[in-house]
Amino acid sequence: MEDQYRFPLENYMSQEQFERIERFASDKETPCLIVDLDIVKKKYAQLRALLPYAEVYYAVKANPMDEVVSTLRDLGSSFDVATRYELDQLLRLGVSPDRMSYGNTIKKEKDIAYFYEKGIRLYATDSTADVEKIARAAPGSRVFFRILTEGLGADWPLSRKFGCHPDETRRLVLRAKDLGLEPYGISFHVGSQQRDIGQWSTALTTTGGIFKWAREEHGIELQMVNMGGGFPSNYLEPTNTIEAYAEDIKNYLLNNFDGRWPRVVIEPGRSMAGDCGVIVTEIVNIARKSLHDLYPWVFLDIGKFGGLIETLDEAIKYPIFFKGSGKQVDVILAGPTCDSMDILYEKTTYMMPTSARIGDRAFILTTGAYTQSYSSVYFNGFPPLKAYVLE
Ligand SMILES: *Cc1c(COP(=O)(O)O)cnc(C)c1O
Repeated sequence: MEDQYRFPLENYMSQEQFERIERFASDKETPCLIVDLDIVKKKYAQLRALLPYAEVYYAVKANPMDEVVSTLRDLGSSFDVATRYELDQLLRLGVSPDRMSYGNTIKKEKDIAYFYEKGIRLYATDSTADVEKIARAAPGSRVFFRILTEGLGADWPLSRKFGCHPDETRRLVLRAKDLGLEPYGISFHVGSQQRDIGQWSTALTTTGGIFKWAREEHGIELQMVNMGGGFPSNYLEPTNTIEAYAEDIKNYLLNNFDGRWPRVVIEPGRSMAGDCGVIVTEIVNIARKSLHDLYPWVFLDIGKFGGLIETLDEAIKYPIFFKGSGKQVDVILAGPTCDSMDILYEKTTYMMPTSARIGDRAFILTTGAYTQSYSSVYFNGFPPLKAYVLE
């Protein structure tokens, strides 16, 4: 059979699985996201097997579909919750408050009060004003302090928006204690789709130092290391295997806590949900800007506003499969809205078989995370991305 894809499909899924998804989507309007819950289950089991000492707090924002959350709830996962809306959803789905943390460092005091009233006792923080809000609205709760990371090596860095420097963290630990909170641990996020495992080493060294300082100088026993997300999904750019992440991270933990094993938490979002999704899209138009234009423009019925915002700066490179045969040509891929920033890939080379026609379907793989939850509500009148659970 002719290799009709630039990237071998078997790097992402079996031919059989692909055909199953294609068949399932055949009577559905495009664009749509098809989610395979079996893959979510596999990812959870894999993380539990490779990091058996770590508790999983799934980052709900990556894919908040009820079915995904319920699947993880049944497997025993806990949840990193960012807003009262996510909290309401989880309570509606029967997740108990002791399996949730309020992981957003940006929160209104009245929202903290709401979380407290609903029974949540574990809060992230990274500033004095926020510690004071928590002390007032969630008295006596456990707080963990987020340290700043630079996000180097990450395809979707979280930049300097979150966390604070170790000096400031130390001040916050003491302030929290003074205000009657329980200084409980340290957290960080090394940046999403982090391809440099060494970033965990840097963060865990800083974390270990703060643990030691708290114990030796203030008699405060911090207990939890929250290593955040950053674990990879299977996009075009290669990453180490999850096994390699697990092995290296275990060594960093062994090296930085003087043999006292802390309570370890991870908050996977992307790595839990990314690989489970496929977006089915249709080619709306193929256009050349001039007679001999080298790179035809291929317009899909989904773009940045329909759920592919992580193509900003071409940061996340999704594997995209066009059906068809014949020679492969380089194309520019763009979305369907009337906004000129709605281009998916112009610099990254994507190829399409010459036999592909307007009206054909294409398949955007590894789109289970940060797609539907990122899609705009009605820009240009396009409805938000529809999602279905694969049956
Ligand atoms: C978004 C987020 C995560 C998930 O990160 P991934 O890289 O998608 O795994 C984890 N923790 C916090 C606090 C987050 O904001």
